[in-house]
Amino acid sequence: MTLGDDLVARIATSGPITIADYMAQALLHPTKGYYSTRDPLGAQGDFTTAPEISQMFGELIGLSLAQSWLDQGAPASFVLVELGPGRGTLMADILRATARMPGFHDAARIVLVEASAPLRSRQAETLKTFDITWADTVSELPKGPIWLVANEFFDALPVRQFQRDGDAWRERCIGLTGETLSFGLSPIGPQPALDHRLDDTRDGDLVEWCAPSSAIIAEVGTRIAAYGGAALIIDYGDWRSLGDTLQAMRGHAATDPLDAPGTADLTTHVDFEALALAAAPAAYTRLTPQGVFLERLGITDRARTLATDMSSQSLDAHIAAHRRLTHPEEMGNLFKVLGLYPITAAPPPGLEP
Ligand code: SAH
Repeated sequence: MTLGDDLVARIATSGPITIADYMAQALLHPTKGYYSTRDPLGAQGDFTTAPEISQMFGELIGLSLAQSWLDQGAPASFVLVELGPGRGTLMADILRATARMPGFHDAARIVLVEASAPLRSRQAETLKTFDITWADTVSELPKGPIWLVANEFFDALPVRQFQRDGDAWRERCIGLTGETLSFGLSPIGPQPALDHRLDDTRDGDLVEWCAPSSAIIAEVGTRIAAYGGAALIIDYGDWRSLGDTLQAMRGHAATDPLDAPGTADLTTHVDFEALALAAAPAAYTRLTPQGVFLERLGITDRARTLATDMSSQSLDAHIAAHRRLTHPEEMGNLFKVLGLYPITAAPPPGLEP
């Protein structure tokens, strides 16, 4: 039985499921979920990410985190956390770039929050020269100052979708047309958590709400405010989301999100306003395009330095990677960076209050 067969059988007996329920099953079902059964990254996989495009991405993030640690008095012990570390490439680049920052590695206790067993193995291999531990959720992180990074993590968390109907909402669900999964709408009802969206939506508009993101950010924000530290959150999205942003990717091409669940990546755009508001009592920075953030951290100088040792073919790839990460028509503007930091401290370098 495929996961699609399981879901059809379940819906036939118990009724429609929410988009969040569908995403959670499709991505993380213990034996048939997308992330539970594969390493999806890279040319042979379904999608690629900034750290897989160039080492410069992780190096500059490492320098921003390490400078922020220095700015807050270089605490002798802290937790260096990555949420959803993929192949471990970003953390490896962070650690290489910070190796000569006196005291940083000695003070860091590295914890990776990862749900996928195949990716945990891959991370263990990439980071085998470091002492690493894994956690299932942020609530398991040791107490203390925390410097954290999350790239393309929040876009994988399950969202619920609601369509406005007058001053109330209908939840977008997945039911059946014959034996095929299909979208539908629940009966109308109030949704107190969406009251603020009555101000900026009209009848028929669709909004998304990601409860797990807010819970994770609330935990991170509380720790940063209590013990010190900072977070860098990088993702595809905007200050507030409007409309259906659910998308599926297979083999680097968009596909139908309801086709063969568990065999394609599912994501939605991140609503950074919801993250920023959930971070209280930590402060949040201005939402900054990835290209601007990387330019402020000196990506062009770093690119020139790396280019001096390159031959023509690798130089072409290197120039293309720099453009892809920073150019407004590529990832430079689509991806945004949000920082969290203690109200009493400076924001991490590359970002503004
Ligand atoms: N940050 C990496 C990988 C992004 S893909 C990069 O930039 O290359 C999303 C990552 O989040 C994967 O490692 C996936 O297994 C992990 N993930 C998805 N949902 C998760 C969850 N609920 N809890 C923990 N990890 C999760």
